[in-house]
Amino acid sequence: MTQQIIAIDGPAGSGKSTVARALASALGWAFLDTGAMYRAVTCEALERGIDVNDESAVGALAASVHLTTLPRVTVNGRDVEEVIRTDRVNGAVSVVAANALVRASMVARQRQWAAEQRLGTVVEGRDISTVVFPEATLKVFLTASLEERARRRGDEGEASVARRDEADTNRDASPLRQADDALVLDTTGRKVDDVVGEIIACLTNLHSN
Ligand code: C5P
Repeated sequence: MTQQIIAIDGPAGSGKSTVARALASALGWAFLDTGAMYRAVTCEALERGIDVNDESAVGALAASVHLTTLPRVTVNGRDVEEVIRTDRVNGAVSVVAANALVRASMVARQRQWAAEQRLGTVVEGRDISTVVFPEATLKVFLTASLEERARRRGDEGEASVARRDEADTNRDASPLRQADDALVLDTTGRKVDDVVGEIIACLTNLHSN
């Protein structure tokens, strides 16, 4: 049987991580937060004093680091679970994520990771349904109002969330895009269980057809 993958994309604060985590738990599947990978590489570049605009240096770094996202986000064995969510990383991650060398390295790792899972996987990010797993079993695109997304992101603030979305949508390398065949859900004012229930219903429907 081919590996089942649910790909979830959407802008910052649209609910991807929360929904993907709850969905994976409900299905007993594995979960991958790809944003944490780009954040961890950014963190390591900043820690080493590498200019995040230096494409080849950051690309080489991305290819060489050891990364984990669960149970904790680590880079070369250093726990960066908290530091990846700081303003400094929020301010630099979109530049690192626009680097095609970094993306090639992260995408290869994401595919390798999914291939190693015994059961299905839920993967969330910006390019999962369009680039990483275009053949995913189910593609979901989450949205929410900017106000609500900024509220969910707490300290980051509306301006930073909007700036990241703008950068992620307008870059050349794998920009944030809604796949043509994605289930589009606006999570504004909706409960996590309700959104998860709708995705599971869609998956069940897919299997019964
Ligand atoms: O999802 P999260 O907000 O943690 O993602 C952080 C950043 O990582 C995004 O703003 C985006 O620049 C980048 N990202 C990406 N592709 C992914 C996941 C995240 O470019 N698949």
